[in-house]
Amino acid sequence: MATSVRPEINERFESNIPGVFVIGDLAGSPLVKLAMEQGYEVALALEQELQALGGSPTETDVYDVLVIGAGGAGLNCAAELQSRGRRVVVIEKEQIGSTVANLPEGKWIYTEPEERPSVGLLPLRAAVKDDVVESWRSFVRSAGLQVREGEAVTSLRREEGVFSITTSAGRYRARRVVVATGKAGSPKKLGVPGEDLAFVQHRLFQTRKYQNEQILVVGGGNSAVEAALALAESNQVTLSYRGSEFTRLSKENSRRLRGASNIQVLLGSKVTGFAPGVCQLEGGPRACDHAFVLIGSEPPRDFLKALGIRLEDEWGWKKWAALL
Ligand SMILES: Cc1cc2nc3c(=O)[nH]c(=O)nc-3n(C[C@H](O)[C@H](O)[C@H](O)COP(=O)(O)OP(=O)(O)OC[C@H]3O[C@@H](n4cnc5c(N)ncnc54)[C@H](O)[C@@H]3O)c2cc1C
Repeated sequence: MATSVRPEINERFESNIPGVFVIGDLAGSPLVKLAMEQGYEVALALEQELQALGGSPTETDVYDVLVIGAGGAGLNCAAELQSRGRRVVVIEKEQIGSTVANLPEGKWIYTEPEERPSVGLLPLRAAVKDDVVESWRSFVRSAGLQVREGEAVTSLRREEGVFSITTSAGRYRARRVVVATGKAGSPKKLGVPGEDLAFVQHRLFQTRKYQNEQILVVGGGNSAVEAALALAESNQVTLSYRGSEFTRLSKENSRRLRGASNIQVLLGSKVTGFAPGVCQLEGGPRACDHAFVLIGSEPPRDFLKALGIRLEDEWGWKKWAALL
């Protein structure tokens, strides 16, 4: 499993393009509360920067800030800036909170780290995913936040100090851009033979669809463990993780997994391939009706490339030169 790659950002979350910031899951923040926190921090930094630039744009079609993505990070950032009198628009390719909305049905949203209070104006409380999304929709309505749903940002360029942003529906101009698109659209693959067979999936939507099956879940993070726990309610579940212990789990998931005697956990195990009805593990084949490979997500490389945002592993000549 490759380590996570994220866009190249500095300590202010600014990308290699001055004036374009990256926050949330895409910037390596794995939980809603932490993603919202980054949104809030970047909003404060942007407010200072815009104050230093002086006033608001004189042209009426120029926004102070355009935010790409209406998840927790983008909404919290936009709300904070708007409350400080800034002209803000959020462009969302699906719907408000779509990543959370697309999690498995009935999914409970934990608000860890518990000891850390959430910051900013967007509400966040532990609840079933639909209630979290509804609270965000209702917040957007009452705050009068401008969110353009069903519109995807496709490219961006700088023209005379102002960004010109192209979307699937038109063009916008803004002094600053915040990219908060998450990584939900690009699940990581194992890269083993047979991974594209229909019984192998990289997302889990409806746990109740699976009954009395033999299921293999691959992964060692919260998504894999939560999927294994939910599926084990009515299936025989094996959880295969290549690590020797689970180090990235939330407290709640660690506790639940420890108590789950109905899940066979294979630590230090490696999947080498899939064939119809069979999962190949290093220790030998296993019969399997469905396999869920839930090992995280890749950054959306094509989208970032279209924006001109470099990833950490895309070393430019300056970095190479610095090593010589
Ligand atoms: C299975 C699973 C379970 C999880 N459970 C929890 C949990 O219980 N508690 C928790 O705190 N976290 C949980 N997480 C993590 C949580 O979902 C993320 O940390 C959080 O959603 C990140 O917020 P974000 O705002 O950075 O990105 P996202 O919520 O991913 O929002 C990004 C938004 O950008 C939009 N977008 C993408 N591309 C474009 C584009 N080109 N133009 C316009 N819009 C675009 C997307 O449609 C999306 O709405 C879970 C994740 C998974 C996968």
